[in-house]
Amino acid sequence: MTIHDTDIIVIGAGLAGLVAAAEAADAGKRVLLLDQEGEQNLGGQAFWSFGGLFVIDTPEQRRLGIRDSHELAWRDWQTTAGFDRPEDHWPRRWAEAYVDFAAGEKYGWLAAQGVKFFPGVGWAERGGQGASGPGNSVPRFHITWGTGPGVVEPFERRVREHVTAGRIAFRFRHRVRGLNITDGVVHGVHGDILEPSDVGRGEPSSRVVVDDFDLNAGAVILTSGGIGGNQELVRRNWPTARLGPAPEFMISGVPKHVDGAAQAMAEAAGAHLINRDRMWHYTEGIRNWNPIWPMHGIRILPGPSSLWLSPDGTRLPYPNYPGFDTLGTLQHITTNGYPYTWFVLNRAIIKKEFTLSGSEQNLDLTDRDLRKVAGRLGKNVAPSVQAFMDQGADFVVRDTLPELVRGMNEAIGNDTVDYEKVAREIADRDLQVANVFGKDPQLAVVRGARAFINERLIRIVKPAPLLDPASGPLVAVKLNILTRKTLGGLETDLHARVLRPDGQPMPGLYAAGEVAGFGGGGMHGYRSLEGTFLGGCLFSGRVAGRCAAGAVD
Ligand SMILES: Cc1cc2nc3c(=O)[nH]c(=O)nc-3n(C[C@H](O)[C@H](O)[C@H](O)COP(=O)(O)OP(=O)(O)OC[C@H]3O[C@@H](n4cnc5c(N)ncnc54)[C@H](O)[C@@H]3O)c2cc1C
Repeated sequence: MTIHDTDIIVIGAGLAGLVAAAEAADAGKRVLLLDQEGEQNLGGQAFWSFGGLFVIDTPEQRRLGIRDSHELAWRDWQTTAGFDRPEDHWPRRWAEAYVDFAAGEKYGWLAAQGVKFFPGVGWAERGGQGASGPGNSVPRFHITWGTGPGVVEPFERRVREHVTAGRIAFRFRHRVRGLNITDGVVHGVHGDILEPSDVGRGEPSSRVVVDDFDLNAGAVILTSGGIGGNQELVRRNWPTARLGPAPEFMISGVPKHVDGAAQAMAEAAGAHLINRDRMWHYTEGIRNWNPIWPMHGIRILPGPSSLWLSPDGTRLPYPNYPGFDTLGTLQHITTNGYPYTWFVLNRAIIKKEFTLSGSEQNLDLTDRDLRKVAGRLGKNVAPSVQAFMDQGADFVVRDTLPELVRGMNEAIGNDTVDYEKVAREIADRDLQVANVFGKDPQLAVVRGARAFINERLIRIVKPAPLLDPASGPLVAVKLNILTRKTLGGLETDLHARVLRPDGQPMPGLYAAGEVAGFGGGGMHGYRSLEGTFLGGCLFSGRVAGRCAAGAVD
């Protein structure tokens, strides 16, 4: 008989792992929380995140006059996910359960742990393909006061309290390489102990092995994250038939250790990995002027007014507008073989409409500094955006259009950008601004969205000619594809038990967070409504921690 070192082993101390460990320990179980990285990385990707959470029918929404409902959100989820495969059985069940959670217990559960939200609710993924198409019908992106670290904080606190009480123990620099399985039952893990590393959070750490380990438990919960930091794997899983070939150049929106190795390890041990071709990469990536991890890219969370141009300067067709339909625009870009695209805008638009995703890009919100947050209403461009305008390799800032186009061509090292095309696109667009109606669908959506007070006050500029010198200088931003989230994953049932290809659970093995496609092996289907990744970690981590605890004597 195997001697157990603990009741439950959790692999990965990101958000899903912290939640699972805290919940299992709350249920009285002893937990070992393993991570290949050092303690400085506690919280994983969630620490870097913007802290945006999908929540339905909240006080914040109601205060802004937004009428949201479970019915509307579930309809939005289904039109966005586009579930269409036999293996979408558990993903769909998880999606239903998650939307129930987001419309029910989620708000109160987080509030009870001290999580608060910024009063303005963001409108991510606005859709654009009509009422039956993908996208959020209403704003639902709730920004956590304290951004990503504010989401991690309560769960880290709970875990550390359990560490003090002796119920949870950390094992950092423990890289799991395999599962211990006897007669089909998962009862432990083995792997390498990596040498200590004092690199900063998110930086690549040493892979020098100093020892090995073998640990056994009543249950194992896998919360090892996705594949977005492993470009080779992203390319291998890329859905070429659906999206065209993967771009030759991509930047990374996640640290290098988000490498998918543990997911592959589980698959090799008999777990069913489904929907591996479903991924959520962004079309508005910019190279970080101050990188932390290799190929470090930042995603712009854009308001809707920038003009989006192909490499030669042709405006992208409706509905490929900033912030509308990430996958649809990605498909347009990749099937046309564009290596990059451009935003053309001006200072007035960048000031109000550019938010950069990430906790370190929004220090006012991350530090909960009310005075600095109020500065967003002032005249100056946000310091993090200004830093990119001054130092970002993808930014061109000039006073006149001929100078701007010259700068764009200098940035790419050839004459691909056609001045005449860009000038014509801008002139045609600007001719539509004089009336409060017109034939330009992008301007129509901008005007409609400004009916919502939050958008008018802090998010979207009043339509005005792009070339108006009073709104200048002009800005062009070269946009790269940025890898981020893994939508497919290990198939799990509603108890977070990992399933085998025959649909039967692998006894003793649970999974949560990105490695499980945030539940079921892909609860988002093809697309996300945003804010659903952190929320997916919270929900699936909670289920996995509770169910594993319930199954261990
Ligand atoms: C900049 C940025 C902004 C974001 N903004 C948002 C947002 O606003 N809203 C939202 O919903 N989502 C957002 N996300 C996405 C979200 O943060 C992630 O999807 C989520 O945090 C993933 O959590 P996880 O616990 O599943 O995995 P991770 O955070 O990746 O944690 C996995 C952990 O497992 C460890 N691990 C992996 N393999 C092994 C192994 N073999 N042995 C031991 N340990 C291992 C890793 O070291 C890591 O610590 C953002 C992400 C980023 C990077």
